[in-house]
Amino acid sequence: MDIQAIHSLFLTCHSLSIDTRKIGDNALFVALKGDNFDANTFAAEALTKGASYVIVDNKDYYIDERTILVDNSLETLQELARFHRTYLGLPIIALTGSNGKTTTKELINVVLSKKYNVKATVGNLNNHIGVPLTLLSFDASTEIGIVEMGANHQKEIEFLCTIATPDFGYITNFGKAHLEGFGGIEGVIKGKSEMYDYLMQQDKVVFVNLDDALQDSKTKAMRRFTFGYRNPEAGISIYDIQTTPLVSITFNHTTVNSHLIGLYNANNINAAITIGHYFNISDAEIKDAIEHYTPTNNRSQLIRKNTNEIILDAYNANPSSMKAAIENFIQLEQANKMMILGDMFELGSESLQEHQNIIDLLIETKDILVYFVGHDFYSQNISLPHFKFFSTFEAVAEALKAHVITDHFILIKGSRGMALERCLQLLPE
Ligand code: ATP
Ligand code: MG
Repeated sequence: MDIQAIHSLFLTCHSLSIDTRKIGDNALFVALKGDNFDANTFAAEALTKGASYVIVDNKDYYIDERTILVDNSLETLQELARFHRTYLGLPIIALTGSNGKTTTKELINVVLSKKYNVKATVGNLNNHIGVPLTLLSFDASTEIGIVEMGANHQKEIEFLCTIATPDFGYITNFGKAHLEGFGGIEGVIKGKSEMYDYLMQQDKVVFVNLDDALQDSKTKAMRRFTFGYRNPEAGISIYDIQTTPLVSITFNHTTVNSHLIGLYNANNINAAITIGHYFNISDAEIKDAIEHYTPTNNRSQLIRKNTNEIILDAYNANPSSMKAAIENFIQLEQANKMMILGDMFELGSESLQEHQNIIDLLIETKDILVYFVGHDFYSQNISLPHFKFFSTFEAVAEALKAHVITDHFILIKGSRGMALERCLQLLPE
């Protein structure tokens, strides 16, 4: 069966599913393979649970005329997504970058939703499976699509662009994330820039933060719409940025008081303002949309718990986001500051050096108590009165129970695998 025929069947279905545990009525089920499973074995179950058709890539699992047998289910899913995207023909905005993709995506979504029927990546589904699923969630009523693209090695963004064929793109930043897979920071820059390469070849539009010298230099020859801090050459000039710790931004005589923390979030907000402006959302609507957005999932949340105030940023960490969070925290004026910092993962041979760099950032800030948690921080252990090192989460948990922290302003940040949000339960109720 060719892709057009499969697409016709897809259009008769209500949804697409790759997981029989979450299958809905009249779904098209695609049987993918993972390291530890082969969903071909669930094809029959999918049909009994309400799927109308199943795509399998092993003839042993052919059931009846509702089975679509293909060579490779994953490739079929990707081709179907590409076909569907072309069939709908809607404008698509693609986002990539080392940090801030999901936050920026959500901000753009709330802003553009003021005027358009927008569909965006759900959660963090941003890889070679997530991007096709996102595209297949768009339908004839969708007016603008927003697609988050993640990558941890070269050629991934290029490939995702050939599926989503975006009309617009924004790279949040080039940072030190996934250094292992990309081969260092130069590798990250090259890998993320694949989005610029794609947009340039297709003569599409890119949104650019002029304060980022790399973004500026790499897009000079492109069709671009820009923003920058007090920059008269920028399409949107940001007049003022305040962090208290919540970020407020002033542009075009409009001040947006967000619920986001950290100077780094200013760029994410600025991108959403700029893209909103491009799509003719009024300044008042942009302000209203951003002011009603509250982050979730432990991404830069401000929490008050008893006498402590906490910036919970335990969703993830890498050297750039860690540095951004620390620099932001240092410049805040609150008293009794403390940080609980967890290891940063996936840094390969550069890991110990990158942990050392973070420690170095804090040597002089003697008024801030710092708990470092995890093997890589621990192995760089140096003795200073305002530093404490713990090799495991269990060790810091013991310390938090033994010496109860009160009246502090606390930053909690570490890689996902450290799950430092667990610290929250160890602070007094
Ligand atoms: P992932 O790679 O997991 O998809 P992401 O790029 O989608 O991450 P977010 O989930 O939006 O990023 O944010 C993750 C964390 O990155 C935040 O909690 C914050 O600490 C940091 N961060 C967000 N925006 C920026 C930015 N513009 N620059 C540096 N760090 C940022
Ligand atoms: Mg994300």
